[in-house]
Amino acid sequence: MTIRNAQFALAADIGGTNIRAALVNGEGHMVGRGSISTEPDRGIEDASDRLTRLLNSAKATAPADSTIVGIGVSTAGPIRPDTGTYNHPPNLPGWHDKTMKPRLSAAMGLPVWIGHDATLAALAETRFGDHLGAENLIYVTISTGVGGGIIANSEMVTGASGSAGEVGHISVRTGAYKCNVGCDGCFEGNASGPAIARTAQDRWNGKGPLAKMAGGDPGNITSRMVFDAADDGDKIAQEVVELTIENVSIGLGGLINVFNPEALVIGGGVVQGLQRHWDKLRKTVIQRSLPGYGESINLTATRLGDDVSLLGAAQLAFRQARRL
Ligand SMILES: [Zn+2]
Repeated sequence: MTIRNAQFALAADIGGTNIRAALVNGEGHMVGRGSISTEPDRGIEDASDRLTRLLNSAKATAPADSTIVGIGVSTAGPIRPDTGTYNHPPNLPGWHDKTMKPRLSAAMGLPVWIGHDATLAALAETRFGDHLGAENLIYVTISTGVGGGIIANSEMVTGASGSAGEVGHISVRTGAYKCNVGCDGCFEGNASGPAIARTAQDRWNGKGPLAKMAGGDPGNITSRMVFDAADDGDKIAQEVVELTIENVSIGLGGLINVFNPEALVIGGGVVQGLQRHWDKLRKTVIQRSLPGYGESINLTATRLGDDVSLLGAAQLAFRQARRL
């Protein structure tokens, strides 16, 4: 099937808090956007039925002469992309061993393709972001957690059980902080938003711009405050930012050495702080990669914002429809 301009994909993005949907054309333009709360405890069937209504509303905005190639669904995982079956998803409690693929497909009368949100974010970057046509691209999201998606030789790397891309648990610093899973010194435990805040809390001395921003209570510190206080000359915040850049660079360097990507894109809330130190980050990534690996990397912050996984879901549908 070739994709023409009047063709659209329905796209959905399922997170632990919200489900978003839109009708997307091949250029990434969205219409009929909508959102509902996920409420995973109401069950996957209930979520599928509410998503059906959301998708039907989006579909109703399609121009008269258009066709819809199918439905792409981006979701928090872990998930098996072929069947859409969840595997103990921490943010979707009660959905283990279940899939909404057959129910959603039957209700909509369209094929449904499902992928992990970070993998689809990487896919979106190769089509709608700064790296059009990239064949080897890694997307790393740094926010409450650290996750990633990998495109290698133009294919999505999904792994034996669909769980590839857990870049957040690469060890970056032994004997340092643990993540919630309990791995020693991993990327997520030492460079996520909460990790940055905790590192600053543990160095608290009650003085300077950071203490002022936190209102005198170290419990109020956020990663954003740490970056802002560093800009204002706060010594502790500057140390934490330096350490964060180092930890991020060790994580990214490991990925670069293994996958030799032409592009590496960073998204998530922490990227706004990192963007102010981009030259330093780039330099440190090069230092932490094998000679000749880091220098050639096109390292960018995502421009696709919160839409990245939704666009990836649309791209998944276009790509799979072409292969039918
Ligand atoms: Zn971990």
